[in-house]
Amino acid sequence: MDVESWLLGEDLHDACGVVGISLRDQENGIAKSIYYALYTVQHRGQEAAGISVYDGQTIRTHKGLGLVSEVFDESQINFLKGSVGIGHVRYPTTGQSCLENSQPVLVKYKNGAIAAAHNGNLVNTAQLRQQLEQAGDIFHTSSDTEVIAHLFVRELLKYDLVEAVRSIMRKIIGSYSLVFLFSDAVIAIRDPLGIKPLCIGELENGFMVVSESVAVDTLNGKLIRDVRPGELIIIKHGDLKAYQLARHPNTAHCVFEYIYFARPDSILDGRLVYDVRVNIGAKLAEEHPAEADILSPIPDSGITLALGYHQRSGITYRECLMKNRYIGRTFIMPDQTMRETAVRLKLNTIKPNIEGYNLVLVDDSIVRGTTSRRIVDMVRKAGARSVHIRIGSPPIKAPCYLGIDMASREELIAAFKSIAGVEAVIRADSLGYVSLKGLVEAIGITEQNLCMGCLTGLYPVEVPGEKCIMAQTKLTEYVSA
Ligand code: AMP
Repeated sequence: MDVESWLLGEDLHDACGVVGISLRDQENGIAKSIYYALYTVQHRGQEAAGISVYDGQTIRTHKGLGLVSEVFDESQINFLKGSVGIGHVRYPTTGQSCLENSQPVLVKYKNGAIAAAHNGNLVNTAQLRQQLEQAGDIFHTSSDTEVIAHLFVRELLKYDLVEAVRSIMRKIIGSYSLVFLFSDAVIAIRDPLGIKPLCIGELENGFMVVSESVAVDTLNGKLIRDVRPGELIIIKHGDLKAYQLARHPNTAHCVFEYIYFARPDSILDGRLVYDVRVNIGAKLAEEHPAEADILSPIPDSGITLALGYHQRSGITYRECLMKNRYIGRTFIMPDQTMRETAVRLKLNTIKPNIEGYNLVLVDDSIVRGTTSRRIVDMVRKAGARSVHIRIGSPPIKAPCYLGIDMASREELIAAFKSIAGVEAVIRADSLGYVSLKGLVEAIGITEQNLCMGCLTGLYPVEVPGEKCIMAQTKLTEYVSA
């Protein structure tokens, strides 16, 4: 939960969500299923939403700025007739925030059209775009997804589908869980390191690929497995084919998905996020015990972590803060009194659970430090005797270049301050972050197979000016011949 961002109306930033569904029988109801799937992954992006379907002749698309419920109504869903389609919810990682940059991105070429939806961020977009522009391509957006779609179309003119995908995988570097609509097929690719999540679900009459398994649950499907890093999945007329196009000895699954982004009821790369968060909370309790009477989560992202902390520490669990679930995007008055009201409107204290008590409050992360500082102030005003903050991630010290809208290095409070320095800024009586070792153990994936760039400043792909842990290897060389 991020109070300052709420005030600015910017709390709605998250990683993107993608979905692709293909049904066996040629019924026309695909858009409704995609709509429900997008609704389920709404937490991954609230800036824009879009759906593309293939109606047997052309690709129909509807997209717009806002939440899924704001972008679509029944008439648009009825217009999107077809048995195969893809969808996307977006927050900006590359490119400005505008309708043109919303997805799916449609690219027409002489043999037809493709629609593309992307979760992740490429690190070599500028270079690729320059090459394509020199070759005569014209771009309508500033997003890396359009660059990928153009590359794909060029390769499709030269090769068959599998070879075309192999060829783009040799060119694009970064994180990508990509879903394309290519006439009557859904094409899905996950980058060779599996940085962003993508899984396969089986439906009653077809298959789906989607960022998080919760959407498979929503559609009454069965989670089959994750799309493997470096794998291509083709779903046509409800049948699925898989091709392992790149084999890298390591993975680099994003740790922040486990810490904050993914829903706790999702299974990412074989791990239930809920279990991971309970484990992190327990580690936190072992590493940073607190002399406290009451333990409370900072809602909502601290809830599962706090449960783990409670189970290990035995400290009485009571909620001290309550979030208004219906707040949406409130229009915020600019003057100071109304700003205070706006904070209260979104988050309130439960005074009897706070007054006279020593509190331990658990949250997932500290980015700029504004949220923690405001919350410490709030509970002190409500009469807390002492406030101990416990955080379910190690200090965030470096920016993310691979698909998470974090903050610039200058804005990250832990980039230049020690833990004692952060503790002083947020005015807590004590501050404890889970250790890197504790986090890795809680996730249950080895350090060499996680992307922890935001915590260590060491990235799995080469980013200009930053350190790369796999610098000696060229990622694209792992794509098989
Ligand atoms: P801050 O006030 O900048 O320290 O924000 C920290 C809070 O924002 C935490 O409570 C997180 O739940 C939340 N948060 C962490 N990362 C993000 C993100 N990338 N986008 C939006 N909120 C985030």
